Amino acid sequence: MGIIERMRLDGKKIFVTGGARGIGKSVATAFAEAGADLAIVDLDIEEATKTAEELEKNNKIKAIAIQADVTKPEDVDNMMEKILDTFGRLDVAFCNAGICMNIPAEEMTFDQWKKVIDINLTGVFLTAQAAGKVMLKQGSGSIINTASMSAHIVNVPQPQCSYNASKAGVIQLTKSLAVEWATRGVRVNCISPGYIGTELTLNSPSLQPLIQQWNEMAPLKRMGKPEELQSICVYLAGDTSSFTTGSDFVIDGAFTAI
Ligand code: NAD
Repeated sequence: MGIIERMRLDGKKIFVTGGARGIGKSVATAFAEAGADLAIVDLDIEEATKTAEELEKNNKIKAIAIQADVTKPEDVDNMMEKILDTFGRLDVAFCNAGICMNIPAEEMTFDQWKKVIDINLTGVFLTAQAAGKVMLKQGSGSIINTASMSAHIVNVPQPQCSYNASKAGVIQLTKSLAVEWATRGVRVNCISPGYIGTELTLNSPSLQPLIQQWNEMAPLKRMGKPEELQSICVYLAGDTSSFTTGSDFVIDGAFTAI
């Protein structure tokens, strides 16, 4: 079998958190095109349902939508129960849900700090842990977490210390889980995207001056597109990446290289 065939994900069972839209939806679409069955997990059940229906319509796969808040252990337990009831196993987890707040550190309230850390770091821990428990029993699985280039550099001009700290935490969490589970068949990696034009960023009027500034700073003079993160995630999800674990993949058009 050639390399492209070996990279397919036919029959694999995958959950994607934050899968209703943006990067999560785009990567879920690539997983479905590669033949995987999907659970689209999101706070926003209406959008998640639309995404799951679209994936089923366009690909010969099964896709379900699950409402869950990744910061709540009971929601994450319920999510895993539904996935196992539907699919009987879990091969890949894309722990991707995240938010950002641009607030100067000296003005940030405790609740604002906690919300970002809860969703971006604790949410990744809870969903990766739930996936890991199932995968360790199976003796196989691949977990992909979404960090950010903000784990590597302090972006300017927007102040986002909670976001930067949460994403740096995701990288070290990824490495820790990869080492703990290395000999038991479970691989854990993360991606660190640069600025990606999602509906959220591109449609927000207040972000337009910032986007212009980021584009001027970027070596490629543009933001990335969600589909430019698809192939790395298909690679990490599949069996051809069997020697890849504990790694962080920076996909940022050389933004952090300067
Ligand atoms: P987005 O806002 O378009 O999508 C995020 C999704 O996560 C939404 O559907 C939202 O409903 C869901 N979500 C938020 N909180 C949740 C919770 N508590 N439980 C379950 N679902 C929840 O964002 P995006 O741009 O697609 O970003 C996805 C991930 O990529 C995030 O982790 C983000 O930090 C990261 N990232 C984004 C960029 C970028 O420029 N867009 C760059 C680097 C990293």
